[in-house]
Amino acid sequence: MTCVLAIDIGGTKLAAALVDEAGSVLCSATRPTPRTDVMSALAALIAEVTEGGPPPLAAGIGCAGPLDLATGAVSPVNMPSWRGFPLREEVQKLTGLPTVLAGDAQCFALGEHWLGAGRGSESLLGIVVSTGIGGGLVIDGAPLLGPTGNAGHVGHMSIDPYGERCECGGRGCVERYSSGPNMVRWALANGWTPAAVGTNAAIDRSNETVVAATGGPSAPSGVQADGRALARDAAAGDPVALAAFERGARALAGMIASVAAAAEVTTVVVGGGVSAAGEVLFEPLERALDDVAGLPFVRAVEVKQSTLGVRASLAGAAKLAWQAHPPNV
Ligand SMILES: [Zn+2]
Repeated sequence: MTCVLAIDIGGTKLAAALVDEAGSVLCSATRPTPRTDVMSALAALIAEVTEGGPPPLAAGIGCAGPLDLATGAVSPVNMPSWRGFPLREEVQKLTGLPTVLAGDAQCFALGEHWLGAGRGSESLLGIVVSTGIGGGLVIDGAPLLGPTGNAGHVGHMSIDPYGERCECGGRGCVERYSSGPNMVRWALANGWTPAAVGTNAAIDRSNETVVAATGGPSAPSGVQADGRALARDAAAGDPVALAAFERGARALAGMIASVAAAAEVTTVVVGGGVSAAGEVLFEPLERALDDVAGLPFVRAVEVKQSTLGVRASLAGAAKLAWQAHPPNV
């Protein structure tokens, strides 16, 4: 049996797996991302995963950005101890395997295209809506990475050139409207206070995390004002919470229609913590697409919720490795 080594590196979690040609996981493990000496933790994780299985043919890594594919170096925003860290070279040295690197959102898109909601689609946009908004493109079945590996940064496409200043330095970026913390921020500014959670009101639709805007519990009610609370209140009919999702969905629709017009993607897969909100996000998103997308091939784009969830990036990292090192070559 042949397999590849897939690695997914995020600010909170490291994951690794041995994956065969069909996408089956032979063996996998995760551990929390330490604040310092991440490489030692990663080396131990890789040793744990490769110990029992067949020797992998290649390694694929999905890592939080920004990264530079020309050098194989990464500087993940949430991992301050890695700045210009030569990740590809380090993993190659450690494992002796041909090693491929891509952004985690690009791996998400590739994973959903291979094994998830985007299976069978020709060209696909994957979007991860969470604390920020990441994205990746699969065009004619292959990941579009770009010269430095930063293609697919759809969260920083401007949907309003007169809009608010974004943290990236740009203006009117879709992330400013549609990320979890930004929807929460807008809702709070427009009079939303999270409803107290009753015993029958706790909804947990996903094992993913909707990250809080404030990072701490809001004092008066003891209910955290985060994306999860916003989604719950929207589902319960709170008008401001609904308006926040309407606004976020409309911004996403503008971006999706633009990407569809530029690249003729036929499928869009939406994942990340905010996508767990389900209907309160996807229903206004479809409605907004009816309004903003004019050309028939643009409106024909199919929007789907991620089916792989947190496993998508790891699947994509495996696919990356298989594409770089096809079996029987
Ligand atoms: Zn931006």
